[in-house]
Amino acid sequence: MRDEGTIKFQSDFELRHPIHCEAVTQLIEARNALFRRNLIGVYPDGISFGNVSIRAQQPEDGTSGFFITGTQTGYIERLDETHIAFVDRCDIEANYLHSSGPIQASSEAMTHYMIYNLDSLIGAVVHVHNAAMWNFWKNRAPTTGEDVPYGTPEMAAAVEDIVLARKPGAVAGFLVMAGHEDGVISYGSNLREAMDFMIAKAAAL
Ligand SMILES: [Zn+2]
Repeated sequence: MRDEGTIKFQSDFELRHPIHCEAVTQLIEARNALFRRNLIGVYPDGISFGNVSIRAQQPEDGTSGFFITGTQTGYIERLDETHIAFVDRCDIEANYLHSSGPIQASSEAMTHYMIYNLDSLIGAVVHVHNAAMWNFWKNRAPTTGEDVPYGTPEMAAAVEDIVLARKPGAVAGFLVMAGHEDGVISYGSNLREAMDFMIAKAAAL
């Protein structure tokens, strides 16, 4: 089932000006590198896929949260600061997420939040879509069930089981979402580590 582009949570959005900081610069560079590899992009029906985030403090008010690529930006060749949102509040149980910035957060921001929430050492999350990676790594790498739809509290629980089952001391990881066609996720202590993990999994095919 392909369900990208569907905002399943209650999204609370506050329009603010773009933020310029080191975390946003890193995020834009990583996202544009994924776009060049066709790991972020747009399906023929116009639905965008793939999103990246980095844990950070909002530099103007010091709020803790993460920057994430904005919703439906997969078709844009080169993102800039006007395509980045900041997520500072989320309630998985209530299916509620609050973002601010020049664009609304990706529809998949709740899964990013949930991964950050599991381990304070996780500093970045990369979610891409790729049919070859998804088919190859499904059930070879840690995989969530086929009957678990994306963006739901059930998916949050399934991902939690995988992240918490990592080897002691390991921060970075990779997983496949069998119930989210083409969807894979990597995460790491920083964006470089999460990106290296994803690119290594792509190169291993
Ligand atoms: Zn996805």
